[in-house]
Amino acid sequence: MSKKLFIETLGCAMNVRDSEHMIAQLNQKEPYELTDKIEDADLIIINTCSVREKPVAKLFSEIGVFNKQKKPTAKIGVAGCTASHLGEEIIKRAPSVDFVLGARNVSKITEVVDKKHAVEIDIDYDESTYAFGEYRTNPFKAMVNISIGCDKSCTFCIVPATRGDEISIPSRLIVGEITKAVLGGAKEVMLLGQNVNHYGRRFSDVNEEACDFTGLLQKISKIEGLERIRFTSPHPLHMDDAFLEEFASNPKICKQIHVPLQSGSTALLKAMKRGYSKEWFLNRCEKIRTLCPEATISTDIIVGFPGESDEDFEDTMDVLEKVRFDQVFSFKYSPRPHTEAATFENQVDEKIASQRLTRLQDRHMQMLSEMMDEQLGKEHWVYFDELKPNGRVAGRSDDGKLVFVKGSEELLGKIKKVRITHTSRAALDGELV
Ligand code: SF4
Repeated sequence: MSKKLFIETLGCAMNVRDSEHMIAQLNQKEPYELTDKIEDADLIIINTCSVREKPVAKLFSEIGVFNKQKKPTAKIGVAGCTASHLGEEIIKRAPSVDFVLGARNVSKITEVVDKKHAVEIDIDYDESTYAFGEYRTNPFKAMVNISIGCDKSCTFCIVPATRGDEISIPSRLIVGEITKAVLGGAKEVMLLGQNVNHYGRRFSDVNEEACDFTGLLQKISKIEGLERIRFTSPHPLHMDDAFLEEFASNPKICKQIHVPLQSGSTALLKAMKRGYSKEWFLNRCEKIRTLCPEATISTDIIVGFPGESDEDFEDTMDVLEKVRFDQVFSFKYSPRPHTEAATFENQVDEKIASQRLTRLQDRHMQMLSEMMDEQLGKEHWVYFDELKPNGRVAGRSDDGKLVFVKGSEELLGKIKKVRITHTSRAALDGELV
């Protein structure tokens, strides 16, 4: 009889891949079946995110609810970034939690699951060459880690404190994992890392074959049966010409790129320790648009970072106007433990930060409507990877737009030409050509 596993994954794509790894490891020990019913579960895992305060606050109320709903014999485990930085404190505040597993200790899931109140949160633990078992939530969507951790020290960001220093995964292991995923039905891969274009700076083994990100992209492109490569997240600082030329000229690399801005003000970028200026950022975006006019650019923006003046915010709005991003993930600054900016004195008034966020999001929504409206009648090659209700199938165009068509599972794992018949800000509808 297989046990039932309820796993909730919060946060980023790296957390999604960590959850897949945990499921793979658990199933290597004994069979587990996924359930979305707490009351049926034998094991409940909350894979947490700490990038902002809200998800952390929500965690403890959720533990309380799950504890009431669960079977008496069921176990609750907390994994991910909040586990890394709160550790023992989670068990002190919620003794119903059976184990705590940090974001860099995923491979230890089978050790902690049977150890009452186990806490494994070593952020120096090196899993970069660990051979995880095979499990993918969706065989047509292959996400592959290329590095763990981050070597930057952006003053607003908790990730280095929860995921540790950056170590690159050897290219031979990455090529091996992608080859397996292609054999499993995936034609597209999403490469994951905190700073993918910083790849190759450090491997566990100093004698590991040297390879930078451009070299890795070239190696992966040779994998037979793989048709599309996506990656997240690159860092603007490391967007050298060689990388951007490879991005533009390599036919397998999807023409969609995430360039996280954070702020348009050079003074604020300095206080954030981002390492680049407004001019550099604009220069890189212009280079992308020159080399690859059809490419779409998405970004991350924080408003209300300590010390942000009206002029600083106008700089951010100026970049928004100049680059016309296809997608913007924007948030109000949230002070995080273990970060420098949380101690900065000149915190911005909450109301002002909200007003700035609203203005930025409203303006971007206007732009997005204009950009998506222009898609009507256009044709895209779409990779279909998800069945949807009402006889629809979802996929992504080469430049990353979400596209729906009428169809069945026969379309899954295929790349087909689609003509756009209806547009909205979030997605496009079309018909097969
Ligand atoms: S690059 Fe900066 S924002 Fe990104 S994960 Fe590292 S510290 Fe955080």
